[in-house]
Amino acid sequence: MRDLIIIGSGPGGLTAAIYAARADLKPLVIEGLQPGGQLTITTEVENFPGFPEGIQGPELMDRMRQQAMKFGSEHLFEVVTKVDFTGRPFAVWTGDTKHEARSVIVSTGASARWLGVEGEKRLQGRGVSACATCDGFFFRDMKVAVVGGGDSAVEEATFLTRFAREVVLVHRRDELRASAVMRERAARDPKISFLWDSVPVEILGDDVVTGMKVRNVKSGEVSTVALDGVFMAIGHAPNTEVFAGQLDLDDKGYLKTERMTRTNVPGVFACGDVVDTRYRQAITAAGWGCMAALDAQHWLAEQKG
Ligand code: NAP
Repeated sequence: MRDLIIIGSGPGGLTAAIYAARADLKPLVIEGLQPGGQLTITTEVENFPGFPEGIQGPELMDRMRQQAMKFGSEHLFEVVTKVDFTGRPFAVWTGDTKHEARSVIVSTGASARWLGVEGEKRLQGRGVSACATCDGFFFRDMKVAVVGGGDSAVEEATFLTRFAREVVLVHRRDELRASAVMRERAARDPKISFLWDSVPVEILGDDVVTGMKVRNVKSGEVSTVALDGVFMAIGHAPNTEVFAGQLDLDDKGYLKTERMTRTNVPGVFACGDVVDTRYRQAITAAGWGCMAALDAQHWLAEQKG
């Protein structure tokens, strides 16, 4: 039986792994569906301290993993399918395999949200996507839309200008939520145009995307925009399905914690985007991962008396 299992492998989970491994807890990191987390589907990370020239997201995550492994963390590239936190030791399953540990850190992050409009699901992989870095390449010289007004939307739109002929940013208000530097970047880009006060009502196309119906929220008018692709960037939802009934969740599904990292089950800690409804940055997740590892370490020491 182990001292610690870490579920998830974004900046939170891998920083927790670095700290826990250096404390000789020999953590098992179960990396999940997207090893390295959301940064592996982004490009340049410009705001992680220590990289003045920027660093590619996947490289940053590889380096974090290497750093943890150097100190003895073990990594399993599998998905947690069930947990039982009602008894001790805690039990975590990956398929039929049961893993046991005295403590657990949950850092399962969040996944892209979808609009839920007509045509969206049917045309996924046929012009509808939530990842420009994964799929942008297919839209060379085409016209695409990005839905959303936050940093992700601007980042996706800017990235898509490498391939697309024209990128329309569709936002439900008349002002972007994105940070100033990102807003200015988008405003300066001749390939990016804006469709303000607009929400998608339907994505059109039989086999592939051919357009999108949008409604102006002020006038109520519905119009059709001809498009070859639609990228969703409307935020994220926490990955907590597997913990329902085991750990306390808020009304949006985020894990509830006390004193930053403690869940309602003593010995189970949480960090990063699975808890964070406010900051959601790589660096805040990393800092939180450090706190979770230190809290787990102190808790284990108390248990051992
Ligand atoms: P976000 O900041 O929550 O923005 C989501 C955007 O989608 C908002 O503009 C929101 O509109 C819009 N939206 C939400 N639901 C919608 C719906 N049903 N229909 C239409 N529009 C909808 O999410 P994010 O952009 O993914 O960013 C998440 C966090 O990651 C943020 O803290 C951000 O700073 C960070 N991030 C940072 C970087 C970077 O620094 N390079 C890059 C990416 C993300 P409203 O504005 O009207 O609410």
